Amino acid sequence: MFITFEGIDGSGKSTQARRLAEYFRAEGREVVLTREPGGSPGAEEIRRLLVEGEPERWSAETEILLFTAARRDHLERTVLPALERGAIVISDRFADSTRVYQGVAQPELRVLVDNLHDLMIGREPDLTFILDIDPAEGLARGMHRLAGAAIDESRFEKRGLPFQESLREGFLGLAAEFPDRFRVIPAEGGPEEVFGRIVGVVEAESPC
Ligand code: ATP
Ligand code: C5P
Repeated sequence: MFITFEGIDGSGKSTQARRLAEYFRAEGREVVLTREPGGSPGAEEIRRLLVEGEPERWSAETEILLFTAARRDHLERTVLPALERGAIVISDRFADSTRVYQGVAQPELRVLVDNLHDLMIGREPDLTFILDIDPAEGLARGMHRLAGAAIDESRFEKRGLPFQESLREGFLGLAAEFPDRFRVIPAEGGPEEVFGRIVGVVEAESPC
C-alpha cells in the first residue's frame, strides 16, 4: 500500500505522515516513511541542488527534470523495494506536488510533467491525502518552523500568498481529476484533530 501526503507549504504533511506511520506501526505493520524531493541517498543529493542556491538557478524545464530524476531514484531504491516486501510506504509529497507546483507557475508545462511521469515513473499512489489549509495559516506555520532552521530552505516558500493560493486551487483541482485515490482533509485545528480526520478515513475504508 502506497500512501502519499500532499498540500501547500506548512499544511502539516510531515506531521501527519509521521503520525500515520506510528499508527500502522502500533498495529504491527512495517512502515517506510519517506519524503520528496528526496527519500533515497541520490534523491537527497538532488534535493540539495533544488532547494539550495540562487532562486533562478534552474530553468523551469530543468527543475522538472531534476524533480523527475530524484523521483526515479526514490522509486527504484526506496518505494518499490518496500512495496515488494509488503511494507506500507508513506511519502511526504510525490508526483502530485510536481504536477501542482511546477504546473501552476507555467500551466503549459503540465504536459511535460505528465509525459515525463509516464515515461520514467509510471506509478501512482494507492491513496493520497491532501491537507487543505488556508494559505495564510500554512505560511504562518512554515515561517515559525523556518525561524529555527539551520539551512535556508525557504526560497520556495518566499514565493508568497498569491502563489500559495494558486497551489491550493491546483491541489483541489487534482483531487477532482482523480477522485478515486484523493481524500481532501481539512487541515485547520491542532495536529490531533487533523489526525482524527485521517484515521476516520483509514478506519472507514481499511485500505491496507
Ligand atoms: P512543508 O511543506 O513546508 O515542509 P509541511 O506541510 O510538511 O510543511 P509540517 O512540517 O508538518 O508541514 O508543519 C509545519 C509547521 O507547523 C511545524 O512547525 C509543525 O510543528 C506545525 N504544525 C503542523 N501541524 C500543525 C497543526 N495542526 N496546528 C499547528 N501547527 C502545526
Ligand atoms: O515539503 P518540503 O518542505 O520538503 O519541500 C521543499 C521545498 O520544495 C518547499 O519549499 C516546496 O515548496 C518546494 N517544492 C517545489 N516543488 C515540488 C516539491 C516541493 O517547489 N514539486
